[in-house]
Amino acid sequence: MNLPGQMMYTPLLLSSVLQQAARHFDSVEIVSRRVEGDIHRYTYRDCHARAMQLANALTSRGIAAGDRIGTLAWNGYRHMELYYGVAGIGAVCHTINPRLFPEQITYIINHARDRLICFDASFAPLVEQIAPQCPHVEAWIMLCDEKDLPDAFPLPIESYETFISGHAQQISWPQFDEQQAAVLCYTSGTTGNPKGVLYSHRALTMMAYASVAPDAFCLSATDTVAPVVPMFHVNAWGLPFSAPLVGARLVLPGPRLDGESLWTLFEQEGVTVSAGVPTIWLGLVDYMRRVGKHSDRFGRAIVGGAACPPHLARSMRELGIKAVHAWGMTELSPLGTVCAPSNSYRDKSVEERACIDAKQGRAIAGVDLKVVGTDGAELPWDGNSAGNLMARGHWVLSHYYGTDQTALENGWFATGDVATIDAEGYMQITDRSKDVIKSGGEWISSIELENIAMSHPEVEMAACIAAEHPKWDERPLLIAVRRPGSALTASQLLAFYDGKVARWCIPDDVVFVAELRLTATGKLQKLALRQRFGKHFVEPHASKA
Ligand code: ADP
Repeated sequence: MNLPGQMMYTPLLLSSVLQQAARHFDSVEIVSRRVEGDIHRYTYRDCHARAMQLANALTSRGIAAGDRIGTLAWNGYRHMELYYGVAGIGAVCHTINPRLFPEQITYIINHARDRLICFDASFAPLVEQIAPQCPHVEAWIMLCDEKDLPDAFPLPIESYETFISGHAQQISWPQFDEQQAAVLCYTSGTTGNPKGVLYSHRALTMMAYASVAPDAFCLSATDTVAPVVPMFHVNAWGLPFSAPLVGARLVLPGPRLDGESLWTLFEQEGVTVSAGVPTIWLGLVDYMRRVGKHSDRFGRAIVGGAACPPHLARSMRELGIKAVHAWGMTELSPLGTVCAPSNSYRDKSVEERACIDAKQGRAIAGVDLKVVGTDGAELPWDGNSAGNLMARGHWVLSHYYGTDQTALENGWFATGDVATIDAEGYMQITDRSKDVIKSGGEWISSIELENIAMSHPEVEMAACIAAEHPKWDERPLLIAVRRPGSALTASQLLAFYDGKVARWCIPDDVVFVAELRLTATGKLQKLALRQRFGKHFVEPHASKA
């Protein structure tokens, strides 16, 4: 006979996370650098009060459970209120990535059928451009005071402060099924249309609990956390939920993400932990070196979204910052692995430790991983066998929004990444499956070749792509950006690979370009590079830089 446990049951709802912070960490600050340029400060208690006020405003406007409310906004306190106020009443906060193409944004808004869109003033020109193509949107709300609304705007807009004013800062948060949707985020759709990933309250709350653990983000009430990773893409890696969960102070940097702006804010606010993609940290390191800064308080930077090149981790360490490597994706809410030391780490040499730190890390509690071969059979955890990386767990997607077709293969989600897992469970991404270089039946890791190129002192940025080859099917071609003033040649850069990888893995050629563009989520635009340079070995004249 079943014997039910006799513990209290409360659904895992996001409202409970902020409510807890407002009661137990009431005077802890949320500091925001606003689009207007000034610094705004208030507390978790204030944030909760205004999230309740927003919830009442939304309800009085007829917004109900399941309705989607879009946001086009930087990291700031009003965005935080939207996360909690919208999801708190069972509606869905749909964060939209403003770095996507306007056509993609229009597609996303229409696909999600957003009823309202709340946007930062800096996105007013974008709103002006897309609004005529979004007939279902009932109101466009600018995240500002009434007095800051533009004088002449070609469509009716409201100010957020007027929208919420007059409503009570008190609500009894509705209790509903924790499996209900809280947040919607679309993938960036590098191939085909963006796909919606609908996060449940349960998934986001559980990930927040798991992510604060010492071997994950290691967050506590003594921390001041600055998510640089945007709240408009995969919930800034869940930090707006995990920071209040432990009562950490939050610093939200708004739109200015260059090295100098970040350093000034971090120093001023005593930031201890931050999170962002590698290019953010490259910008910070460049600035700190240029002006001779060294970090004392800012001790940890979580690096994810793209591989953290070992030379970047080294530069950060020299400046007093530990790079903590993490891996995830939109479909994983996004957290899959974090690289933290294992029991045997203390016995390892400096070189061995650097090798471990360069890996993407071990699965955090609540996520399970495996690598499989092309036949679907699981590969050994030997640190060598590279295969398709599969994931399952409490915050892994099962269906894309708007489809009832499962996204799973026998209960596992195929991440589209190629990886190895070693005997201690450390996973290392060798490639996106569409970026791997298939040469004469062997797979060559583009990430490894990029990391070597970027460790050359005269290389600013590098991408390695598979270029068609008449004999080997594909061969690696390196596309690189020289540092200012450098006259590095292709043969010098290729010689730099000697002894670092097997000879047959060394790129066949290098093309130097003036810049390498990044996608809307901070990754190298390899698809565009393949289109431009993919025939370099078969029609060399077709790919002149
Ligand atoms: P999209 O750009 O499609 O929205 P995401 O922003 O969800 O994708 O990014 C997910 C992908 O980013 C992963 O599948 C992986 O290829 C890459 N990625 C994320 N973190 C890392 C990392 N630490 N190292 C290497 N690749 C990473």
